[in-house]
Amino acid sequence: MEKYAQVIIDISRRGLDRTFTYRIPQALQEKVRAGSIVMVPFGAGSTLRKGYVTGFSDHAGIAADRIKEIAEVLEPTRGYSMEDDSEYYLRLAAWMKNRYGATMAAAMRTVLASRKQGKILEHRQIRLLLSEEDAKEKLAEFDKKHQKARARLLKELLEVPLLPWTLVTARLHVSSSVIQAMKRMGIIEVESVQELRNPVNVSASTRTGMKLSEAQQRIVDRVIADFDALQEREAGTPRVSLIHGVTGSGKTEVYISIIRQICARGRQAIMLIPEIALTFQTLMRFYSHFGDRVSVVNSSLSDAERTDQWERARRGEIDVIIGPRSALFTPFSNPGVIVIDEEHEHSYKNESMPKYQTREVAEEIARMHGAVLVLGSATPSLESYWRAQQGEIRLFRLQERLTGGTLPSVETVDMRQELQHGNRSILSRSLYEKIRARLSAGQQSMLFINRRGYAGFVSCRECGFVPKCPHCDVSLSLHGNGRLVCHYCGYERPAFRTCPECGSRYVLAMRAGTEQIEGVLQQTFPQARILRMDADTTRKKGSYEKILSAFSAEEADILLGTQMIVKGHDFPGVTLVGILMADMSLYGDDYRSAERTFQLLTQAAGRAGRGTEAGDVVIQTYQPQHYAIRHAARQDYEGFYREEIAYRRLLRYPPAAHMMAVQIQSEDEDAALHAANGIRRLLMEADPSGRKYRIIGPAGASLRKLRDLFRFVMYIKAEKYDTLIDCKDRIEKTEAEHPAYISRNVEIQFDFDPVNPF
Ligand code: ADP
Ligand code: ZN
Ligand code: ZN
Repeated sequence: MEKYAQVIIDISRRGLDRTFTYRIPQALQEKVRAGSIVMVPFGAGSTLRKGYVTGFSDHAGIAADRIKEIAEVLEPTRGYSMEDDSEYYLRLAAWMKNRYGATMAAAMRTVLASRKQGKILEHRQIRLLLSEEDAKEKLAEFDKKHQKARARLLKELLEVPLLPWTLVTARLHVSSSVIQAMKRMGIIEVESVQELRNPVNVSASTRTGMKLSEAQQRIVDRVIADFDALQEREAGTPRVSLIHGVTGSGKTEVYISIIRQICARGRQAIMLIPEIALTFQTLMRFYSHFGDRVSVVNSSLSDAERTDQWERARRGEIDVIIGPRSALFTPFSNPGVIVIDEEHEHSYKNESMPKYQTREVAEEIARMHGAVLVLGSATPSLESYWRAQQGEIRLFRLQERLTGGTLPSVETVDMRQELQHGNRSILSRSLYEKIRARLSAGQQSMLFINRRGYAGFVSCRECGFVPKCPHCDVSLSLHGNGRLVCHYCGYERPAFRTCPECGSRYVLAMRAGTEQIEGVLQQTFPQARILRMDADTTRKKGSYEKILSAFSAEEADILLGTQMIVKGHDFPGVTLVGILMADMSLYGDDYRSAERTFQLLTQAAGRAGRGTEAGDVVIQTYQPQHYAIRHAARQDYEGFYREEIAYRRLLRYPPAAHMMAVQIQSEDEDAALHAANGIRRLLMEADPSGRKYRIIGPAGASLRKLRDLFRFVMYIKAEKYDTLIDCKDRIEKTEAEHPAYISRNVEIQFDFDPVNPF
């Protein structure tokens, strides 16, 4: 009997998001499985296209002479396989399609990104050739000559005599020319090996012996007990745990211990860390525990190198993968734990279709595999903390900083008072004095410019007044036409000539950039060595790392930068952190502004006093009484959470309710607007009483025109997530069936519980 396969073609285009039937030739019948990646002839010219097999049937359903055959199966053969491994991907893609709204092809592409075929690369490693004594001598020489990169590499090699090349170049920020030079000097050799060997003598590692504190051990025991209970399918066992603990409280040590025990049970681990926090030191800790059973993926790897890591996972050569968001889809046979460190980070939200939230997909993957999910953060997302409060996930606290260092003392400066005292500078008198003292003491300062927020942010320089939307309680943005606009509902009004609160004429759009501020600083402190880090200075590949390593080598006195500088990195020499324009992010035009501000300020303040010296933090603001700023100054997460959740409840914003952005774009402005209004009508008709959901907008998006596309957005708010899925399904159906409502040149995207404005 003939066999037929249902195939989804790998093109994200409206009208093609359905299956097509293909005959399976005799020769391929063994190889084609649900989830297989195949090449099939498609379209009038029968060009070969990639497709995904989603199911089978015994009859074609169309005329036999019109049916085409599968040409090839791309699926690489694997050393082992979970029985329904392919179907697993199919199920996961279907789940994502349903939850986030995307074509099946886009969902398949996302979950199968890791299953591209590639050839196996050779790994390069760097080996120290000198004896310890000679190496130390060389190190002293490099230090004396200020050959920082050479010294850095040699220092690490003294700890671990064999290091992977990619780790050294991408994370230790040592260039290949430096490596070559050291090779010529006979200090190191570069070896090529087919497989990455154990870079570390694990048994000799000092770290394996670390005894966990009682609080740490309690968490590990509880999570492992949950894991074991899940294997027995005990009902009601929590699958997700949240560890709330400041940086340095021992979370990573807990992750490592959990991963170790779960790997000992024959399962694998996925460790997610935001790219920006993926430091060499952190990676080395994992290497020292798991040796060649751990691997890293990050954006500095080439496609081939990345594919190579996936291949090793597929073959069962590694147990642990470390990486950002995309590492979630590592093709392990049976992961037992997924860890998401810094779980509040916005980089965990995928901003292309399907616009998924990593936490949620991780939980679904964990559910499918009988695995546990561990989240960790110093400033948990409102979503996770809310779920912990509801008893849906376990909450653990780690209170103390194990790294020592006292908590910094924080001063909040009211910039309105500075103005009243005649100080028009961007530096308050207090911050000025403190920087000066640091410079003469030879200590380092970090200045964080909170420029997050959006072009068009308007405020009064005299009193701090910010115009807000009367309906949505988010700040209005100044548009080119001189009008103030709400990006949620489209409410508009003319810009203020004078401040309605204090009558001042200084109600202006904020424009101070990092470059201007650098200029002012240099004028104020001519002798200071200043490094600037922002989108402009980090555009070139590797420049970000270069700035950070220069600062950590104390080649500069002041590091000035945007939010890039507040994440992850430890600079023991920093004893002062100044935060300029702390309110900026407070008035971003979305409901997460306060949360974002609290997180940024808490992180920034946490940068001070990591070393032996106590640290100072100065927060400059026009809104010293705002709860996000008050609680950040006290590093009081609980206090912040209580006020923020009350606000979310009141206005029915997530996590107290759910929200879906429907993003509509087209080259044809009329068509886009027509579609937007059509969708609004459609949804109104489906819920005439307005009991199930509320529709806000459509309004012009924050970038109303981008790359020649006209963009509109509307928001649907509902108590239940499922209600929003229904709305999405209704829109998708209309899109497919009624071009009169939504014409073909209009593209529609969905964003559930959005993180970034469209
Ligand atoms: P986090 O991940 O919360 O930032 P880490 O796990 O990195 O915290 O721990 C911070 C520092 O404390 C690290 O240097 C780590 O080696 C050390 N540390 C963690 N747990 C212990 C422990 N039980 N005993 C001694 N030192 C510890
Ligand atoms: Zn005013
Ligand atoms: Zn509004």
